[in-house]
Amino acid sequence: MFGKGSRLYSIFAMKCPRCHEGDVFETHNPYKKMTAIKETCSHCGLRYEKEMGFFYGAMYVSYMLNIALFVTSVVAYFILLDQYISGTLLMVIYVSLTVVLMPVYYRLSRTIWLNFFNSYAPEKRGTK
Ligand SMILES: [Zn+2]
Repeated sequence: MFGKGSRLYSIFAMKCPRCHEGDVFETHNPYKKMTAIKETCSHCGLRYEKEMGFFYGAMYVSYMLNIALFVTSVVAYFILLDQYISGTLLMVIYVSLTVVLMPVYYRLSRTIWLNFFNSYAPEKRGTK
């Protein structure tokens, strides 16, 4: 399920969605050069940004990830933490988590967006 050939591998390992070999970003650490995305895959040559503004759609994915974190926080609060922390502290923790995780969300949303438009096809080569 998480092995090479699955979309989840490509997303969480931040590998090229077509060959699962080349890295999407120039560094593995999202807190260093957060936005440094490679132009093409170093292994198969897939062009990541298909057209100008291609990654604007990743903003919607990032929004969905943030909503998922918010819903998880609220559910955890009402089920587990209601008697231990106040709602204000929950909001402070949620906003802090959102800020700290922003580089991770940025990269995850871009690799998820890339996987919407590219399938695993290790035999293919070229920019398209
Ligand atoms: Zn590739």
